[in-house]
Amino acid sequence: MNARYWLVLPNGSQQLIDPTRFDLAAMAVRARRLGGSLVAEVPGETADRRLVLPDAAVRQAFEPPIQAVGPLFRNRLEQIFNCRVEFSLDIATRATSRVLGGYYRRRRLVRVYSHDRETGRRPLEELFDTFLHEVAHHLEYTEPSSFQARACQRKRGQMHSPLFWRILSELKQRWEKSQRGQSFSLQIEVEETEFFESEALDPTDEPASLFPPEGDPV
Ligand SMILES: [Zn+2]
Repeated sequence: MNARYWLVLPNGSQQLIDPTRFDLAAMAVRARRLGGSLVAEVPGETADRRLVLPDAAVRQAFEPPIQAVGPLFRNRLEQIFNCRVEFSLDIATRATSRVLGGYYRRRRLVRVYSHDRETGRRPLEELFDTFLHEVAHHLEYTEPSSFQARACQRKRGQMHSPLFWRILSELKQRWEKSQRGQSFSLQIEVEETEFFESEALDPTDEPASLFPPEGDPV
């Protein structure tokens, strides 16, 4: 879309937004939360009249193309957490009905399924939610000590341990804070503990998690 984007604040002031420099989808959500809005000015037709798009249209207008979703999510993550171990990210467009994502430990692969078999492409924020969920599995696996795991051990065979929920809630809180413009430290005080029992030797690389698994309170 060849449009110009304006951030309109509750007091009426407006700011031109460079769409290559900002995460428009996140900004639209943030603007609404503050009582403002993000509007698109579409050139042409009636003398460059500014269109204020309704909520659903705004969301659609700011949904990036699928190829941009992965880089966008990595960029968001960088704002809230420095991963000590790299992971691969696959935004898979194969339509699924129940499974939203998975984490493959041996390959350090985070996979997010972007399309629902019935409703088509899943909304961006829902995909981001799945992304954070799978990243939490990655962090639980690769750097449990970042989250002071001693008091919060992972248990074998339990897909979502107390440690997992702690990591996920930390990530979500940070993302929300960053959306409200609050600052926080990217570093977590690292406490070296013995590495938790590892299932890395498992020769099959079945997903460590399918999200959401049967009967899991996600
Ligand atoms: Zn999971």
